[in-house]
Amino acid sequence: MELLNNSLKYFKGNSFSYIFNPLNGTSIVVENNIAEKIKKGEFSNSPEITSKLSQRGISDKDNTSTIKKQIKPVSFMIDFTKACQNRCIYCFRNLNQQEFITQDNLSQILDYIIDYCNNNSIKNIALQPWGGEPTLAWDKIKYTQDYLIEHNITPQINIETNAISITPYIAKEMFNRDIAISVSIDGPKDIHNQHRPLYKSIGSFDKTIKGFNILQDAGYGSRLGIVCVITKNSVLNLDRIVDFFVSNLRVQRVKMNTIRDSVNLTQKNISLNENDILHFCKTLCDLLISIAQTGYSFSESGIVERLHNLLDLKPTSLCCSRGCQGYYRIYSFDSLGSIYPCDLVDSPEFVIGNVQEKKSFSQMVERCKNKFYRYKYDIEHCNKCEYHFFCKGGCTAMNIFNNASIDKHECTRNKYLYNRLINIILEQPDIISLITNNEITII
Ligand code: SF4
Ligand code: SF4
Repeated sequence: MELLNNSLKYFKGNSFSYIFNPLNGTSIVVENNIAEKIKKGEFSNSPEITSKLSQRGISDKDNTSTIKKQIKPVSFMIDFTKACQNRCIYCFRNLNQQEFITQDNLSQILDYIIDYCNNNSIKNIALQPWGGEPTLAWDKIKYTQDYLIEHNITPQINIETNAISITPYIAKEMFNRDIAISVSIDGPKDIHNQHRPLYKSIGSFDKTIKGFNILQDAGYGSRLGIVCVITKNSVLNLDRIVDFFVSNLRVQRVKMNTIRDSVNLTQKNISLNENDILHFCKTLCDLLISIAQTGYSFSESGIVERLHNLLDLKPTSLCCSRGCQGYYRIYSFDSLGSIYPCDLVDSPEFVIGNVQEKKSFSQMVERCKNKFYRYKYDIEHCNKCEYHFFCKGGCTAMNIFNNASIDKHECTRNKYLYNRLINIILEQPDIISLITNNEITII
């Protein structure tokens, strides 16, 4: 068996080593003495080691190019409304309390998706209604789900909501329809209210927590997730934020979005600099470990995503867990039926077409490929990086906003987190199941 020994990376712990093939993301954890043998190429007379390495795909070369070339979206976002009750300090959407998608435009978008799915034998898709506050268009979201199911497409609908308009009736409907919900909460009252004031009023904390409780009572319980935005104003309070989620809200799953510098940000002083990002990553890992040591299961989706990459290659986030998937696997529709490679680049420059043209995604992409693709990563800079297979330069939208070829924010985050997580895999493997909500277990 040819082993790409000169490409493999070895990380040595006290008793175990993590061996990683940066060309295809495969890995294996073995005892240190076996790692030594592999390193020296002294394993050919051990069928057990040879078969393990082969099963894990350690000897394979890069397969990213074939995956990347395939334009086969399975994840869609539809802009249902520009209305929202909040005016969050980091929001860059042009909100307008009156603007909702029309029934006519929604039907055309859905028919376009159905045609595409039928032509490509796709039965299951992910769909995220976005806005504004998407639940203000709840009737249209229900219509969307019913219409797709009627046409033999099963949509997994994920909604991120401020929960302000959630009534017990709506919550029950959402639960019965198996819609995944995450509520946007930025921490305890003082932090949340500072980030998320209501339109023409004070903070939204009380209303959001009321909606959160209604959703939990409707049956979501610990299945309810939280989306938490971290700014420069809150990053030093990460311990207080996480403690609030664990001790007060008793949730088990949070997704943390850190604010990056970009031309779209109106309040420039709230983005995290490199030191803030490092502080965020280190503190988050420390907190997850100490919570796990109490026996409580609590996960952060960015960490879970990276652990999947390091351990089983299961793709969890279509967005960027294997480099930006905009144009390949994700498409976004605005309320007029225009199509974009991602909801973050919803300016006219990046429109690839409109559903009324009835052209396939691939046909439309060809026409304006260079607009988005040219911001995809700096190959030379990233090729020497051991985490290139997973990161590929980070978020393309951020590169566009910053006129850059790599997303420095994601770069800092990935370089710290992947190294730290490998250390946890080697030295504290027993906590992996608790910090991934039992998604991954190391035996
Ligand atoms: S541009 Fe950024 S947010 Fe959009 S799909 Fe790519 S990585 Fe995700
Ligand atoms: S952006 Fe940074 S972490 Fe990502 S692939 Fe490039 S060098 Fe590696």
